[in-house]
Amino acid sequence: MPATTTAPTTTATGSDPGDRAPGLIGAATDLLLGSRCAGCAVPRWGVCPECRAALSGQRPRSVVPDPSPSGFPPTFAAADYAGVCARLVAAYKEEQVLTARGPLAAALSRAVAALLTDRAGPVLLVPMPSAPQAVRRRGLDATGDLARGCARLLRRQGRQVGVRAVLRQQRRVADQAGLSARERQRNLAGALRASGRWPAGVPAVIVDDVTTTGASLAEAARALRGVGIEVCGAAVVAATRRTGGSRR
Ligand SMILES: [Zn+2]
Repeated sequence: MPATTTAPTTTATGSDPGDRAPGLIGAATDLLLGSRCAGCAVPRWGVCPECRAALSGQRPRSVVPDPSPSGFPPTFAAADYAGVCARLVAAYKEEQVLTARGPLAAALSRAVAALLTDRAGPVLLVPMPSAPQAVRRRGLDATGDLARGCARLLRRQGRQVGVRAVLRQQRRVADQAGLSARERQRNLAGALRASGRWPAGVPAVIVDDVTTTGASLAEAARALRGVGIEVCGAAVVAATRRTGGSRR
């Protein structure tokens, strides 16, 4: 790939400490006002053992959207996007409930391990980029932080896994909610670009929290392959179970 600027590996918000404030305020509020499990709302600090078990008790499964967007990479999901899992994802991404990150990163690591079952050697996780305005609003780089937590867990299991945040949104995209699979793919076509240094011969695993139609993962794979990066697949915390006529 072309040698361009070195990609920042953390948030896209730069080093202004004010950018992190919403996350910190959320964490402080948790401490001051008492805390609840983000999966079931039982009063306690952090995610309760039952909700952790609900998430870890599912076997990672291969995800094949129907219809499958062209270029959709082989993808594994750790759980179905429903119930406890959906509540933990929403709490982490939208309410900055940081205690949900550990269980979600563990789930993501199981999906990555399932994808890499027959594959040895180093890989780099590439988090799906959030829109810069979403990172500012949330005060954290939710998917990037999830990827880093996931990589730490996999390294502890002896795998050579790093994180390279080389994907950027190169234009605004419309809100995906309410769009059909085909409309989503059109909405996202050409939306991402890859830039930054990449070690030769190391394949990428795209990681994200949730996949619905697969359009985002297909677009990410296109952008990476376009600069010569091998994509061995994608891993997500959760995938929606799509039924006939459903747009999720
Ligand atoms: Zn719970």
